[in-house]
Amino acid sequence: MDIYGGQVNRLIEELSRLPGIGGKTAQRLAFHIISMPDDRAEALSNAIINAKRNIKYCKTCYTITDREECPICSSGERNHKLIMVVETPRELAAYERTGKYEGVYHVLHGVINPSAGIGPQDIKLKELMIRLRDDVEELIIATNSSVEGEATAMYISKMVKPAGIRVSRIASGVPVGGDLECIDEVTLLRALEGRVDL
Ligand code: ZN
Repeated sequence: MDIYGGQVNRLIEELSRLPGIGGKTAQRLAFHIISMPDDRAEALSNAIINAKRNIKYCKTCYTITDREECPICSSGERNHKLIMVVETPRELAAYERTGKYEGVYHVLHGVINPSAGIGPQDIKLKELMIRLRDDVEELIIATNSSVEGEATAMYISKMVKPAGIRVSRIASGVPVGGDLECIDEVTLLRALEGRVDL
């Protein structure tokens, strides 16, 4: 028997599609939202819509931002000759939280993974090569230490080294398959400081 009615079921269904949200949690969240004051519920739905509509990729590093160029790329305080290559904006955020990295980033939006049909042209590699025409001294490759992350690091290294740019890889303190986002800041800093030349 449909005890809630279509609208409530629809809300539960949409919430349960979010990562890490099971049926029970979706139900709990749905009832919480329904019991919210109207203005709070409206603020929540507007935040989702606005974030979705206004967020785009930074034209330089391809992280998500609501500007043409993200605050890191447009900052005069950062070292623009030092570029750290990460897989996703979440990893960028993890390194930013350390507060110790002074360079800029490049977000690949994935790694090369032939078995999943993802080739070099499917990630932001071409865009990285274009950036390297500017004055860049070092490229730090901070892809995950998964097989694909390592293979992508090697691929980039081979492409970039002939240009005479220093290419380094973060130290293997980051666990295999480890989610960089969940690793504490001290470990990330050690990985960064202990980077080795490729
Ligand atoms: Zn940027």
